[in-house]
Amino acid sequence: MRIGVLGLQGDFREHLAVLRSLGVDARDVRTRAQLDEIEGLIIPGGESTTMAYLLEKMGMLSVLRERGEQGFPIYGTCAGMILLARELNDAYPEHRLALMDIAVKRNAYGRQLDSFEADIHIKDIGKFHAIFIRAPKIVRVGPGVEILAEHDGAPVLVRQKNLLASSFHPELTGDSRVHEYFLKMVTKG
Ligand code: GLN
Repeated sequence: MRIGVLGLQGDFREHLAVLRSLGVDARDVRTRAQLDEIEGLIIPGGESTTMAYLLEKMGMLSVLRERGEQGFPIYGTCAGMILLARELNDAYPEHRLALMDIAVKRNAYGRQLDSFEADIHIKDIGKFHAIFIRAPKIVRVGPGVEILAEHDGAPVLVRQKNLLASSFHPELTGDSRVHEYFLKMVTKG
């Protein structure tokens, strides 16, 4: 199986390492042409405004939006989740994929508490140690969105058909079960 990690900005190397540890042919994706070579894409954490700007500049934004609408599997972590969200209560980034029926508030867990860790419970996975870094908060989910995990009353892992999004960073914990969940979405739909 060949999976791409958007490599324009952010912590894509960590995602590549997790995927490779699972025996996946994982490659960083930086051009529109490379999108044709993969069966699913992970959009990493980083800075959503920068990533959105680069996606647009590389001519990848509209292609990826179209693919996502047609069933291509995409998993967005943190900044990646911001790019997937249809609604954002923040002016930036104005260019987004806007594929998932969720509303997200950037940096919503408080500026003083930039990062924190918590044990969460994920449906079909179980207990998972989650790391949040200047995390966006999901403040609304639409009817077609399944909540797979919550923390403090807010969803932190959600799925809408071929799309998966988390406000935390599973690539930083040495626990590959969320990545494995995404790989199942790619193979089984
Ligand atoms: N705060 C970042 C943003 O708004 C996201 C943080 C992250 O990806 N760890 O883009």
